[in-house]
Amino acid sequence: MMRLPTFELHQPTSLSEALALGAASNGLVRFVAGGTDLWPNMKRRHESADVVVSLRRVAELSGVRGEAGGEIRIGAMTLLSDVAENPIIRTAYSALARAADSISSPAIRNMGTLGGNLCLDTRCTYYNQNEEWRKSIDFCLKEEGSVCWVAPNSPRCWAISASDTAPVLCALDARVRLLSQGGEREIKLADLYRDDGIDYLTKQPGEVLTEIVLPPSDGVEMSFWKLRRRGSIDFAVLSVGIALRRDYAGRVEAVRIYLGAIASAPIEAKDAAVELIGRELTEEVISNAARAARKPATPLDNTDFTLQWRSKMVVSYVEAALREIAGLPLTGLPPKHQM
Ligand SMILES: Cc1cc2nc3c(=O)[nH]c(=O)nc-3n(C[C@H](O)[C@H](O)[C@H](O)COP(=O)(O)OP(=O)(O)OC[C@H]3O[C@@H](n4cnc5c(N)ncnc54)[C@H](O)[C@@H]3O)c2cc1C
Ligand code: SF4
Repeated sequence: MMRLPTFELHQPTSLSEALALGAASNGLVRFVAGGTDLWPNMKRRHESADVVVSLRRVAELSGVRGEAGGEIRIGAMTLLSDVAENPIIRTAYSALARAADSISSPAIRNMGTLGGNLCLDTRCTYYNQNEEWRKSIDFCLKEEGSVCWVAPNSPRCWAISASDTAPVLCALDARVRLLSQGGEREIKLADLYRDDGIDYLTKQPGEVLTEIVLPPSDGVEMSFWKLRRRGSIDFAVLSVGIALRRDYAGRVEAVRIYLGAIASAPIEAKDAAVELIGRELTEEVISNAARAARKPATPLDNTDFTLQWRSKMVVSYVEAALREIAGLPLTGLPPKHQM
């Protein structure tokens, strides 16, 4: 049985108290939300902490605020199950509800939070193993080792961003609010991420992610698709989040396509967007855009399935997501991996 290491736990009931505790200690301080990522990581000795500040009792960090048709604010501590079931989110941001509903199992969705999902640690076959296994290969760059076992000549870590809500929220142009004792800032969610498997967030250690801000969704069409081995529990090996707007004549005016689980950050498929802008969503246009989406997708051999097949699936899944938005029949997907 894996046990947690020794640390000091605080359970404040207000945000100001949580921030003060986060800033007070000289040792390594971590915030914990649902703990579905942090606790297993600490048990496997991936992550350590001298002090853990739980945000679970800070009521002001939970809930969905706003009216349908306007800006919506989701507290970072809102449970994934509440995000998936919220009537405004289900209607106006259906792709986000679908992404939240696809995460793991009901038990994890009833513990895990949206903020925790956005700050989730990056993952890799050579890293998400127990300590003995990792020790047997002399660890790797993400820990105390000196080699990346995925790309031995590489000076960086390529562990993948595994958050399912991140690609869809980036596509929706969501913003996040970060608060510390030094002040508050609001940034684009896409700017929270860095394509580096070790230093994957631009969030500072004492900052708490407080809110996710969604722009009004009027006229925005969206989709989320996820590829994984089993229909539940498994992490994505590819996820696709798309948000687009069409003009009165059915031509694409604006579109953002983000790919998850193929790099250390959600990656925008900008060339695919160029293929869509100013055009109607015909079969040919969609097919060209899907092929262009493969360009920024360079999966490595550090998760389930072969990288060649995952790379091919980028085309199939972007095509499927766009065909769904266009109301066209879905074709070309391995049946058991549809969602
Ligand atoms: C079996 C299993 C399957 C899973 N499957 C999936 C999956 O399919 N897709 C997926 O996306 N995830 C999956 N997860 C990962 C995880 O459960 C979810 O991502 C969950 O949303 C994490 O949220 P949490 O609140 O539990 O985060 P925690 O574990 O509490 O925190 C995660 C990280 O975020 C930081 N953090 C959390 N909240 C804040 C905040 N408000 N401000 C600052 N920092 C914060 C913590 O310090 C920690 O570093 C799975 C986990 C398990 C165990
Ligand atoms: S990508 Fe390389 S450095 Fe990063 S976790 Fe995997 S093996 Fe380690």
